[in-house]
Amino acid sequence: MPTKKKTGSKAMKPTKARASKATKSKAKPKAAVKRVKRVYFFGGGKAEGNKDMKNLLGGKGANLAEMTNIGVPVPPGFTITTEVCTEFNNAGGKLPKDLDAEVTTAVAKMEKLLGKKFGDPSNPLLVSVRSGARASMPGMMDTILNLGLNDETAAGLAAASGNERFAFDSYRRFVAMYGDVVLEMKPERKEDHDPFEVLLTAKKNAVGVKVDSELPASALKELVAEFKAAIKQHKGVDFPTNPLDQLTGAIKAVFRSWENDRANVYRKLNNIPSDWGTAVNVQAMVFGNKGNESATGVCFTRNPSTGENLFYGEFLVNAQGEDVVAGTRTPQKIAALEEDFPVAYKQLYEIRKKLEKHYKDMQDIEFTVEDKKLFMLQCRNGKRTGFAGVRIAVEMVDEKLIGKDEALRRVEPEALNQLLRPVFDGAAKAVAVKEGRLLAKGLPAGPGAATGQIVFFADDAEAWAAQGKNVILCRHETSPEDIRGMNASLGFITAFGGMTSHAALVARQMGKVCIVGCDAISFDYHARTMTVNSAKGATVMKEGDWVSLDGFTGEFINGRINTTPSEVIRVLIEKNLDPKDAPVYQQYAKLMKWADSVRQLKVRANADQPDQAEAAVSFGAEGIGLCRTEHMFFGEGKIGPMREMIVAENEADRRAALAKLLPLQRDDFAGIFRAMGSRPVTIRTLDPPLHEFLPHDEAGVRELAQATGRSVDAIKARIADLHESNPMLGHRGCRLGITYPEITEMQARAIIEAAVIVNKEGIKTEPEIMIPFIGTKKELDLQTAVVRAAADTVIAESKTKVKYLVGTMIEIPRAAITAAKVAETAEFFSFGTNDLTQTTFGLSRDDVPKVLASYLDKEVYTVDPFVSIDREGVGYLMKHAVAGGRSTRKDLKCGICGEHGGDPSSVEFCHEIGLNYVSCSPYRLPIARLAAAQAVLKK
Ligand code: PEP
Ligand code: MG
Repeated sequence: MPTKKKTGSKAMKPTKARASKATKSKAKPKAAVKRVKRVYFFGGGKAEGNKDMKNLLGGKGANLAEMTNIGVPVPPGFTITTEVCTEFNNAGGKLPKDLDAEVTTAVAKMEKLLGKKFGDPSNPLLVSVRSGARASMPGMMDTILNLGLNDETAAGLAAASGNERFAFDSYRRFVAMYGDVVLEMKPERKEDHDPFEVLLTAKKNAVGVKVDSELPASALKELVAEFKAAIKQHKGVDFPTNPLDQLTGAIKAVFRSWENDRANVYRKLNNIPSDWGTAVNVQAMVFGNKGNESATGVCFTRNPSTGENLFYGEFLVNAQGEDVVAGTRTPQKIAALEEDFPVAYKQLYEIRKKLEKHYKDMQDIEFTVEDKKLFMLQCRNGKRTGFAGVRIAVEMVDEKLIGKDEALRRVEPEALNQLLRPVFDGAAKAVAVKEGRLLAKGLPAGPGAATGQIVFFADDAEAWAAQGKNVILCRHETSPEDIRGMNASLGFITAFGGMTSHAALVARQMGKVCIVGCDAISFDYHARTMTVNSAKGATVMKEGDWVSLDGFTGEFINGRINTTPSEVIRVLIEKNLDPKDAPVYQQYAKLMKWADSVRQLKVRANADQPDQAEAAVSFGAEGIGLCRTEHMFFGEGKIGPMREMIVAENEADRRAALAKLLPLQRDDFAGIFRAMGSRPVTIRTLDPPLHEFLPHDEAGVRELAQATGRSVDAIKARIADLHESNPMLGHRGCRLGITYPEITEMQARAIIEAAVIVNKEGIKTEPEIMIPFIGTKKELDLQTAVVRAAADTVIAESKTKVKYLVGTMIEIPRAAITAAKVAETAEFFSFGTNDLTQTTFGLSRDDVPKVLASYLDKEVYTVDPFVSIDREGVGYLMKHAVAGGRSTRKDLKCGICGEHGGDPSSVEFCHEIGLNYVSCSPYRLPIARLAAAQAVLKK
């Protein structure tokens, strides 16, 4: 941070390229050393970079270079590489010495192209300094505009432009931005407003105007002096006047901003590695705030919320870019640009088409009109909702802009989740509106329905959500500092800002429900209230009040509203909507069909009940990969006999309880077989952590005593007997069936009896019976013998044929390590990666939350290993087990049924190691299908 005013700067004076250590060594001649290129120039129709250099130039830098190369009007400038950011951070916040010379040369090139000079009072060159990482991180890092202004150049700018107001408007903006970003003058408490905003508001009040653009030049001049005085008072430094000093300070601040808190949070949320660094883009300023012939805007080549193929965006007349993105003024729709600036609009429209054709994707564009002349300041692939992602991909195939494979690559598998989410129940919403509960309407920036309690601060949103509350974050506008709270909220609403404001961008990316630009609401943060003004009067809402957001229509409603299933769910699961009337469903179905034609992995579902099995088939399940039989006992009337079985003290009592369970299980299995038709169904023998099934209250104990004819004390004693210190690693899985073989025997009997019944109905079912939690082949041998004896007896009794397999779960490292031996008995493997992760890490899956936050924070884990397969450890065991198993049994069927089966990265890994299928919860099947297709296309 510059602390002292300097009259002359050494910071950016050209220095001779210094020899690196390597050149000094005798072994290498000087000529062999290639100097690292740190600065890439663009301008005058030519650029040193291009769109494929995102790693080095960041997304913004690479695309500025690309646009320059394809003849789009871009103001000249240069990009300092992301590698310099790493050098800067490694050197403890010092810029590499050689950078000075390269920057000075690049500035000179800009000066030559534009006929202006940096720091020249008669015709000053002004620049913007912006961040730009490989992956876009909207608003997370810093930007400085109008750099190069001081008292002399501001006067020069006023003279050269003949517009004093414009010159001092730019100057006051620069001092505020530089003061905030470089000199770090921020609000002191969360309730406080930005210190520069406070002075600006006071000035507007003193002059008696409402909006910034009404302030006269004289007032803006005064503001510059007041801003500088405030900086001196609070930060103890003079505002730097030398443009080269300003540039050095700004470059450093942008590099520093890679490490700020919000950028760190954003990286974690989006899995962006912290060592990527940001590039810095220095670019000649063009001015959207030069008067009413100038404007600035942000647009998308298609609607980023719905995906509709319509030019979409907004602009502000007489403003600078940050005003649109920051959401501090509500802008006009892009269509209005055609009326105000017909020539620039036509050119912009052509550029829209050109960029989509060139990049073959929806683009997010920033532009400025200076004195009616159009300039492009940025383009990048636009962030979009899940709805828009699917629609754009599918429609671009129809438009022959991309092929089906590319469409499949485009859609984030997780984004499909949004298409399954609930919407408001139409009737319930109509009642709310009729009751006068519609408070206001804003812009629908993030689709979906959210009902929750009002909070006004991002940190409160986080705290309330941690207590399990559903929260709606309500703010005047959001800023990148709010990112954690936004993530914790179900949705957010802002008073200001348009569809491209920070809140809107973040909502679309996070898949949150969002309304912006709802100008009927105003806030009193100190009182923790908001007021909604309508024709009917003012409604005051306070923290904790319940509200509902309709992110499809922008309606903000008082109180809770029931939600209803989405279009896709109504067509597939509820079957009460005709696909013809469901356009979103049609796009979804098309994409899924393409995914199915590409993927090699089969997809199965984890389902324990017939209705879940039916849902699974609707979502594309090709079988059941895991039926957890113990879950069936949570059903009506089943927990009693199950408890009787657990507390039985001897085999006879246990068999009596099992006899009650047998018909219940048989009916459930038959229901599942019917729902699945001829698709394979894997049923696992009992694997209950016993403590989950025992009664925890007096009434439950009394009931159990009555049912078993034993005393309350006897039951209590038995429960105490069954207590385990670590049930997750205790008497569970096959251990239960080995201690009490009659349990496995009953289950095998129920499975095969159900298969016989269903086969007689004409459905050819082939059950796969799966033994859990084995560590040794012997355990599997013992259980397989019990299963086969019972199954074969039933088959013989029925005088029919039933084909069945007996296999095992691989969820203990020892089983994975000895897989070749295990496969002598096992006819299939299914990886139980929940337990395999638990046992490989030695970390209880129940207790992981206690360590997770700190482990992720300290990067002990880069992701939660219970969500995404740890390829290095757990994955290693899986790979070894597949190879071992198939060395014994060539065609051994291998699948996965842990939660990872629905995680896109894990699905990719399963494809890589040659599994036959992944199995996951029914609602994650669309994600797994797409991820499996993407795994093929990545090769
Ligand atoms: C597993 O461990 O991955 C598994 C599927 O079994 P459960 O979660 O029932 O222990
Ligand atoms: Mg398990």
